[in-house]
Amino acid sequence: MIAQLESHSAEWDICIIGGGATGLGTAIDAASRGLKTLLVEQHDFAKGTSSRSTKLVHGGVRYLQQGNIKLVTEALKERGLLRQNAPHLVKNQSFIVPNYKWWEGPFYGIGLKIYDWMAGSLGLGPSRFLNREETLELAPTLDGEGLRGGVLYHDGQFDDARLAINLAATAAAHGAVLLNYMPVTGLLKANAKLCGVQAKDALTGKTYEIKAKAVINATGVFADRLLKMDDPAREPIIAPSQGIHIVLDKSFLPGSAAVLVPHTDDGRVLFAVPWHNKIIAGTTDTPVEPKDNASLLEPVAMEEEIEFVLHTIGKYLTKDPVRADIKSIFAGLRPLVKGNAKSTAALSRDHHIEISDSGLVTITGGKWTTYRRMAEDVVNTVIKHAGLPESACVTGQLKIHGWKEAVDFDTATYYFGSDEAAVNALIQQDPLLGRPLHPLLPYSAAAIVWAVQEEMCMTVEDALARRTRALLLDAKAAAEAAPGVAAIMAGLLHKDESWVNEQVNGFTQLARQYLPDTIIH
Ligand SMILES: Cc1cc2nc3c(=O)[nH]c(=O)nc-3n(C[C@H](O)[C@H](O)[C@H](O)COP(=O)(O)OP(=O)(O)OC[C@H]3O[C@@H](n4cnc5c(N)ncnc54)[C@H](O)[C@@H]3O)c2cc1C
Repeated sequence: MIAQLESHSAEWDICIIGGGATGLGTAIDAASRGLKTLLVEQHDFAKGTSSRSTKLVHGGVRYLQQGNIKLVTEALKERGLLRQNAPHLVKNQSFIVPNYKWWEGPFYGIGLKIYDWMAGSLGLGPSRFLNREETLELAPTLDGEGLRGGVLYHDGQFDDARLAINLAATAAAHGAVLLNYMPVTGLLKANAKLCGVQAKDALTGKTYEIKAKAVINATGVFADRLLKMDDPAREPIIAPSQGIHIVLDKSFLPGSAAVLVPHTDDGRVLFAVPWHNKIIAGTTDTPVEPKDNASLLEPVAMEEEIEFVLHTIGKYLTKDPVRADIKSIFAGLRPLVKGNAKSTAALSRDHHIEISDSGLVTITGGKWTTYRRMAEDVVNTVIKHAGLPESACVTGQLKIHGWKEAVDFDTATYYFGSDEAAVNALIQQDPLLGRPLHPLLPYSAAAIVWAVQEEMCMTVEDALARRTRALLLDAKAAAEAAPGVAAIMAGLLHKDESWVNEQVNGFTQLARQYLPDTIIH
């Protein structure tokens, strides 16, 4: 891809800053309309918020409670489209809302019927009332004391970082050039108008001046930094809100149904969702003020947040999870747009587009679920503003890389979709690649070879946090697998022993942050 950047002497139509859900979706939209598109990401694709979500493709039951009908309707439509366009990554997930009070059944039941109705023909299945026995059959570890029954409904569930990697491949297939480890370090202007960006290859140190007709700031919680780069007097627009998840063994919630706790002590909802044969429980909504780039890139869970999630989920399960049960903890920052609400939980999840005096177009807010719609809106805005050739958006029906209709979500390698045959072919050529990376991880060495050869995987962290999800599934096992992964990568990337040591040490340090108490030595 660097060669494509270096050989492209002409002006780009669109330069997108940021390789999360928003930027990657925008790259697909722009490239599939025939625009010359470049995307630059400072770290790895989805390193930021986009690998740290609850992994739900949803309308948002909570937003329905808040009365945000527009957001729920839009998100339900996007949920349906994404399930059609990436069926290898978006699963139909059943959720149970347990009822302990007499009014909860009718209250949540009617609300979820409205949710079904709003999804229309793109619905994933009707919700229904469950009696006590049916509820416990589907979720046998729910606390049975005082349980009256439940309501079952459907939503989508996905693998966020894998979708991001597949979005990057889709954009590239439509002619976009995408570069990770390429931070934008300055904005280029002529007569006070933006005409491109300055970027630095973080792996080689080489700098580039990139000319573009339009520049899009899709940097999530970093958006204010780019706005300040453009205009130092600029007031911030982002109110970052931290959310954490803890990952537990599947035995805490066996079976296929997820649980939605409808009302936490701080008046929100909390999920416990099966994911890659583990349980993800979360999340929190804590206003934060990260001071530097590092704390924006790698936020750390607070003690109170960990205790809150353990305590809240423990109230609903027969066995209370304790700190020693935690396999991994991950924290993410919501790029919420400032408003007048009293708490970040009440701030809008709608997206926000604005054009600065210099012409910089900023898109932020929104949700993973609505990334396609956000991309469509921002590319429409840019076409009009920068006078680019008009053409209609085609992403509503565009298949995402890896598209495969019938995948078995119970297999460890379902996420490869149509790439699975090629990954298996690697193992046929070299059976040693079929060996597991670690006895507690569902990944083979072939997944790493594939990631390096086909998915722009540059570091051990890329391999274990986002190409595979080892760091999120079991941080200790991921750290133990790091030396083997570094050795495979060093062979493919022609790296020496000092690179291997640096990678293993860096990743081990990172993995420590994903565990509540240091149990990695
Ligand atoms: C706890 C939590 C749970 C969530 N759960 C869900 C959910 O279940 N479902 C859902 O739909 N949504 C969910 N969301 C929301 C969703 O994750 C976000 O809306 C979405 O990921 C934001 O994507 P983004 O691309 O705007 O930002 P990001 O993913 O943060 O991407 C921005 C990128 O810009 C890059 N960047 C920054 N500065 C520069 C620079 N100078 N040069 C180059 N690149 C730069 C960053 O490195 C980063 O990768 C959740 C969010 C959180 C925090």
